Amino acid sequence: MPQSKGYAAQNAQSPLAPYSFSRREPGLSEIAVEVLYCGVCHSDLHMARNEWGQSAYPLVPGHEIVGRVVMAGNSSKKFKPGELAAIGVIVDSCRHCAPCGRGEEHFCAEGATLTYAAKDRVDGSITMGGYSNNYVVDERFAHSVPENLDLASVAPLLCAGITTYSPLRHWNVGPGKKVGIVGLGGLGHMGLKFAHSFGAHVVQLTTSLKKKEDALKLGANEVVLSTDANAMKTHAGTFDFILDTASAPHSLDPYLSLLKQDGTITLVGLPEKPAALNVFSLIARRASIAGSMIGGMPETQEMLDYCGRHNIAADVEVIPIQTINEAFERMLKQDVKYRFVIDMSSLK
Ligand code: NAP
Ligand code: ZN
Ligand code: ZN
Repeated sequence: MPQSKGYAAQNAQSPLAPYSFSRREPGLSEIAVEVLYCGVCHSDLHMARNEWGQSAYPLVPGHEIVGRVVMAGNSSKKFKPGELAAIGVIVDSCRHCAPCGRGEEHFCAEGATLTYAAKDRVDGSITMGGYSNNYVVDERFAHSVPENLDLASVAPLLCAGITTYSPLRHWNVGPGKKVGIVGLGGLGHMGLKFAHSFGAHVVQLTTSLKKKEDALKLGANEVVLSTDANAMKTHAGTFDFILDTASAPHSLDPYLSLLKQDGTITLVGLPEKPAALNVFSLIARRASIAGSMIGGMPETQEMLDYCGRHNIAADVEVIPIQTINEAFERMLKQDVKYRFVIDMSSLK
């Protein structure tokens, strides 16, 4: 493999800066990909700053990757050099446990290998993510890309897309359901698009009322300022399902009060501190709090194909990699419309 170039954090306090490293040669069923675009997920920021206490440095973030195959191992069947391929949050798993057998590699009993800051199952090195010029992955963990979509806008589907598609499908969001999406960021705007596309009545819950017009354009039937207690009260007890994508610590109580009897709130946002919760908000309606994490390989491909058929992709702001630190700061200020995507040609 040619020398890999990317941007890395050297520790939890350092900004991302240029970094060179090497990747192993692709094995028999593996492909090497030239990274064209990589989305900027809030998890990249949490991880670069070690907010979950599990980071390994140097840390090259990035798990929303769209690229072109430059090499394919002899036994690879899915891809040929020159084709497009996409890589998401996990790049390997044990491949023999029950969840792996079901195509739920993200729930691998032995732990899935994350795209960055994880131990590579093949050579024991630390995985380096997609804020870089190339990636090497087994073809099982790479996806075909719908031809009709803008490539930069496809990249965020690999994390923000599947992380919202999967729970909305699992909890049967569709016609006749009133559904809330908490947070209009990268995940939230994809959740909004999918819930709308699945035919639900969708209410965007936001702390930034200035995003109201955008939310309506993205498919919301209604927009509610979640910090306005009176506005929230008018919706009390009326939601079947809520998907919470908020990235910062927040109380669940205002959202629980929106649920109908037996309603569910599913958490996908991962704030660095535990969620506050008053149990009375739960018992008063036999509500359920659930969680969900990305999706398995077959469901990720299903989601990409769905997006191709329905012309769904992320709303993106394409940036050169040199401005990644400013992008992180804007993400913290909730100032993203609605996903930053790095154009990797800026690395050259
Ligand atoms: P993002 O683009 O920064 O969006 C987060 C949004 O959360 C903000 O735009 C804001 O929306 C809302 N928010 C922020 N602080 C809030 C608060 N105190 N109360 C209520 N809402 C608040 O981030 P993202 O990339 O979508 O990621 C969101 C979270 O999901 C992150 O924690 C990330 O690590 C996690 N994540 C989880 C998975 C998984 O598999 N479960 C996968 C990917 C990411 P408004 O301005 O509309 O209020
Ligand atoms: Zn992510
Ligand atoms: Zn497994």
